[in-house]
Amino acid sequence: IKKNQLKEELTELDKKHFIHPTSNMKQLQEEGPSFIFTEGDGIYLKDMEGRTLMDSLSSLWNVNIGHGRKELGEAAKAQMEKLAFTSTFSNWSHEPAIRLAAEVAKWTPGDLNATFFTSGGSEANDTAFKTVRHYWKLKGHPEKKKIISRKKSYHGVAMGSTSATGIPEFHTFTESIAPDFYYVDSTIESLKELIEKEGADSIAAFISEPVQGSGGVNLPSEGYFEEVRKICDKHHILLISDEVICGFGRTGTHFGMENFGIIPDIITMAKGVTSGYAPLGGMIISEKLHQEIYEKAEGNFWHGYTYSGHPTAAAVALKNLEIIKNENLIDNVNRMGEEMLKGFKWIQEQNKQVIDVRGIGLLGAISIDRKSADVAPVGPKVVAEALKRGLICRSVVYDGQDTLAFAPPFVINKKQMDEMITIVDESIRAVN
Ligand code: PLP
Repeated sequence: IKKNQLKEELTELDKKHFIHPTSNMKQLQEEGPSFIFTEGDGIYLKDMEGRTLMDSLSSLWNVNIGHGRKELGEAAKAQMEKLAFTSTFSNWSHEPAIRLAAEVAKWTPGDLNATFFTSGGSEANDTAFKTVRHYWKLKGHPEKKKIISRKKSYHGVAMGSTSATGIPEFHTFTESIAPDFYYVDSTIESLKELIEKEGADSIAAFISEPVQGSGGVNLPSEGYFEEVRKICDKHHILLISDEVICGFGRTGTHFGMENFGIIPDIITMAKGVTSGYAPLGGMIISEKLHQEIYEKAEGNFWHGYTYSGHPTAAAVALKNLEIIKNENLIDNVNRMGEEMLKGFKWIQEQNKQVIDVRGIGLLGAISIDRKSADVAPVGPKVVAEALKRGLICRSVVYDGQDTLAFAPPFVINKKQMDEMITIVDESIRAVN
């Protein structure tokens, strides 16, 4: 009875006082939150009703080492007790931020060796958009301002990152986006056409996720990024890889673009760098860019967040990256990624309405045939069925899609993967 009372109390407080990010406000007012979580352990979450649920999206594609790792709590506590916060503005510094920037450089490909820290991915992308414009200005090309992104991309919700996002719903929400943002289809022709139309002299950068996440786990076509890299080089357009989901092992490599054999000029990251145990993100730039900026700049780099390089978040990130390395978790991403894709293919064979399955590392999707955008999607019903069977999974319905997205924690084992596949299969069958 006590538990029920507490749930009721929290539900009422939630409805009255708590505005949820990216949520259906009316539905929340009518139904209240569907989960009030209390604990996490490995790939499982527990909620107030005592349900234990498998977290097949690592919460928000971020709890990569899994829930409940005490070492991260201990790292945060130790750092907070020693030095909870001080600024890194101007010429102040501290060891956790310095060590983390140096550690990130060990993970990145090529000479992407200098990091600007933020609190998350949206800020990381806004930082990148300002940095590329600043860079071209220093190089004597202030007119190179435009940012190109891909349709179905998700880059965040700050003013710049929401403007770069290629999912229309995020734009119709306010009917206002920042100027100088352009979108292309995911073909080389579309990119070439836009560059031709707008003129390379006006374009600062092209941004892309290696594998689109929120837009439905969309893998690039064969050779796409190799060609993109060539085009960017030819037209002096900087290439930003948004590795907020793919970075730090999700696709079975350190960074997603490594799967396609190219090195971007800038990487933006967040999520997996701390496995969600503390908010942290960043923009990583090449040594060449870094040097050109500090050599040519007069005055300040006029951009910084209070929490750029937050000591506690940095200490948590360092411990998280140590765990990923010491426990060879990326090897498990590759092994379990293969199992997941095998399982998805088996599901496709069993279920006629499944029209596509795909995956790379532990990032995957199942697409269901949705004849048109006017037809109600099946995904949300599958999600409800999966929940009855103890699995949380995510449905993507933007743009007429009907897709289920998966990104389980790196620590998932074979038995748990089999269970996930079985539940997904049963849930798809149940809605027919
Ligand atoms: N970029 C990508 C690819 C993302 O998936 C996300 C978040 O889901 C973001 C950027 C935005 O990051 P944040 O929500 O930390 O601001």
